[in-house]
Amino acid sequence: MIPMDNPKEINTVYWDESSKSWKFKLVKVDEYFGFTTCQRCQKPMSHNIKSNNEYQVVYVQCGCSKNR
Ligand SMILES: [Zn+2]
Repeated sequence: MIPMDNPKEINTVYWDESSKSWKFKLVKVDEYFGFTTCQRCQKPMSHNIKSNNEYQVVYVQCGCSKNR
């Protein structure tokens, strides 16, 4: 795993059921623990963070989705 500068916020992506599309949401990062990479493009795919005193796994767009 490659260490990364502690980001202050992450532009996460989530599936919005009402509009049937991917939406972005900026999530504030209190503590940063690392990320997992996509097995296809080797870009970060999810981040392990603490936000609002809660441990969370947030998803971001990896390299593959940008090629669509
Ligand atoms: Zn990918």
